[in-house]
Amino acid sequence: MYKSFLIKYGEIAIKGKNRYLFEEALVRQIRYALQFIEGEFQTRRAQGRIYVDALSEYDYDEVIGALTTVFGIVGICPVVLTEDKGFDALAKDVIQYLDQEYPDKNKTFKVRARRARKNYPMDSMELNAELGGKILDAFPEMKVDVHNPDILVCVEIREEINIYSKEIKGPGGMPIGANGKAMLLLSGGIDSPVAGYMIAKRGVAVDAVYFHAPPYTSERAKQKVIDLARILSKYAGPVQLHIVNFTDIQLSIYEHCPHAELTILMRRYMMRIAEHFALGQNCLGLITGESIGQVASQTLQSLAATNAVCNLPVYRPLIGFDKNEIIDISVKIDAYETSIQPFEDCCTIFVAKHPVTKPNLRVIERSEKKLEGMIEGLVKTALETVEIVTITAEESA
Ligand code: ATP
Ligand code: MG
Repeated sequence: MYKSFLIKYGEIAIKGKNRYLFEEALVRQIRYALQFIEGEFQTRRAQGRIYVDALSEYDYDEVIGALTTVFGIVGICPVVLTEDKGFDALAKDVIQYLDQEYPDKNKTFKVRARRARKNYPMDSMELNAELGGKILDAFPEMKVDVHNPDILVCVEIREEINIYSKEIKGPGGMPIGANGKAMLLLSGGIDSPVAGYMIAKRGVAVDAVYFHAPPYTSERAKQKVIDLARILSKYAGPVQLHIVNFTDIQLSIYEHCPHAELTILMRRYMMRIAEHFALGQNCLGLITGESIGQVASQTLQSLAATNAVCNLPVYRPLIGFDKNEIIDISVKIDAYETSIQPFEDCCTIFVAKHPVTKPNLRVIERSEKKLEGMIEGLVKTALETVEIVTITAEESA
């Protein structure tokens, strides 16, 4: 049972002050992810590396599972850390490590020693050769293969000596908080949770807005969105979910505007309200799950018409994805089963039979004029009655 894990992260393009911020954010997010599993852990930085030490018993798969939700991690290496007690002691540790880790010795190997501290009496070439010899003496079935070994035995001489040979792939990306925050329009569908995940992967913290229309949409539909926010928060950290009552705005649009334009008009109000909350939460952009041409409200003309009401940039990470590609990610992040639960959202209830597919911005603006004098009050009420819930991964663990 390993006591420590060495965390590898992409170091390219993180120099100077940025490196410090990157590592800080990574450590914070590792601690966040580990608090939801059994066991006590310590996450620390040492000599330009990040280690997770287990301070109690733990479940190996749970630890790996938690760490693979942390963006910024490229690899997770279960590692044996030992003190420097001279070469013979080191060789013994390496042999013991291999013996435990690989019960079947019928394998090829290569030693890759590194000396981060130059006062060690042997250089890496000598270490490779000497340790290789000791391993062959101890396990005559093993063979050296320098090109394509089954086992790459990594031995790093630092303040502590690191011995490891396995690297579990991390999710990549950048740690949450390294790149600011954005506001996700989160519906109960498949797309928007995936969109939030993808932006979070680049180190962006995520808050969310959900528009519901009680009594037309149910409490279950709202709970589904809360569940999706919780799944997202496993990767993205705590999410401030803004639940907006959209009923009166929708009814007003429904009563006064051409039904073919309902979805576009609704979307425009959603964007305006989302932007309002985004600015209040220091978000630097909006995120939606739109993809070109997926439905009538996502043609280039429709996207232009919805986009026209916001000043903040709108990030649409799924813009070039086909539905099946989006579903693959949804499944991978464990959101799919929740997303396909059959609770209506407000868009499906107020949807027109023949929506416009090529809305003209000027026509849309003219329709909106019909709402003047009443919609402002409804928007104000919607803003004032927002319910804000902080959602963390906690209960899903
Ligand atoms: P999704 O699967 O994300 O619901 P969709 O394919 O159903 O997307 P639309 O219903 O046209 O597409 O919605 C497009 C985008 O608008 C969504 O991805 C989401 O970002 C936003 N959106 C739609 N409805 C809501 C809602 N009720 N609350 C918050 N955002 C919404
Ligand atoms: Mg939807």
